[in-house]
Amino acid sequence: MTYQTTFNPFDMAQQQLDEAAEVLQLDPAVHQLLRQPLRELHVTLPVKMDDGSTRIFQGFRIQYNDARGPGKGGIRYHVAETVDTVRALAAWMTWKTALLDLPLGGAKGGIICDPKALSPGELERLSRAYIRQVGRILGLEKDVPAPDVYTTPQIMAWMADEFAFQQGYNAFGMITGKPLALGGSAGRGDATARGGLFCLREAGKALNLELPGATAAIQGYGNAGSFAHKLGKEMLGLKVVAVSDSRGGIYQPDGLDYEQVYAHKAGTGSVVNFPGAQNITNEALLELDVTVLIPAALENVIHEGNAADIKATFIIELANGPTSPAADRILHERGAYVIPDFLCNAGGVTVSYFEMVQNAYNYYWEESVVHERLDAKMTRAFWQVHQLATEKKVHNRLAAYLLAVSRVAEAVRLRGWA
Ligand code: GLU
Repeated sequence: MTYQTTFNPFDMAQQQLDEAAEVLQLDPAVHQLLRQPLRELHVTLPVKMDDGSTRIFQGFRIQYNDARGPGKGGIRYHVAETVDTVRALAAWMTWKTALLDLPLGGAKGGIICDPKALSPGELERLSRAYIRQVGRILGLEKDVPAPDVYTTPQIMAWMADEFAFQQGYNAFGMITGKPLALGGSAGRGDATARGGLFCLREAGKALNLELPGATAAIQGYGNAGSFAHKLGKEMLGLKVVAVSDSRGGIYQPDGLDYEQVYAHKAGTGSVVNFPGAQNITNEALLELDVTVLIPAALENVIHEGNAADIKATFIIELANGPTSPAADRILHERGAYVIPDFLCNAGGVTVSYFEMVQNAYNYYWEESVVHERLDAKMTRAFWQVHQLATEKKVHNRLAAYLLAVSRVAEAVRLRGWA
């Protein structure tokens, strides 16, 4: 576990940018500007607990870069949250929105907390406390949060409500991933997984490989991972043989049924001990001999220490930052096809952008329209990355960086910032 303890995601994000800056021969001032967040707000949140005591939580909102448009990016609730993790995630949002050519910048938020140890009432008071502090820098035209690790549509609803009282009117477009009844978008729930699977479908074409019946392993069973299980079968005919969550994984070579696994997790709190499957560790899941590996949990799970043991042909990064730069090189040399996080998981923010547009117009689209427009955006971005990677003979992540960074750099230059 040494890789975990010494790992700093912001160092990793800066290293990735440095590599792209060198290839692009980026102007040194632009490069320096893009290495740091533009603005950070650190907040202290007093919350009344159910037992009558008050606990103090720490939170952040980091607006990494808004040269191309308002900040955009989720809010994570996690015990191991750090300011550098939020910085890295905010940087990745900047590259993600630019790569998908959305008129948005990149931002991210986080609260250091263990959401599983909080009651619904405590969670609501914590979420409202966050908006009381951070609301002043949010808004449809400033910075728009969304769900991420351990945050839900219900949490977005509480935040939208708190913000409405701050403003004196309903300004639902200040946050996305809301429930449908409060200005959410059709198709936002499964958008991250769906977008990643559109990319995988295109990658199958690019490599001339048949996907129906291909085996898949999914690490993480939150929003992205569980919908990847459901849609992997529905959209592409994948055979999902292993899934996991924070407590461990399960493996069944004949395939795992989505409805049954989902019901088991809903009943027991975990996928572990699913009847008829073998329990495996999260580490072992990554090294299974499958065609498609889908990391859909946290950062830095594929690193220098295990990259050589990863056997999958396709790595579908639904998590943010699952692969370290050293692992990238190892995977590339071995010929694995990585669909990098800020392309692969951009379906979430793309439908968030559609949600903002619908909120601004107060006119809502059919789910089929959302799917079609998401497909068009993901497919276009996928082929831009694939073609540039082929042309320049670099791995997909570097190609994606070259596209995204040059778009942000152009906006920075046009605005006269550097
Ligand atoms: N949290 C998601 C991400 O990392 C979605 C962000 C958003 O919708 O703004 O891309």
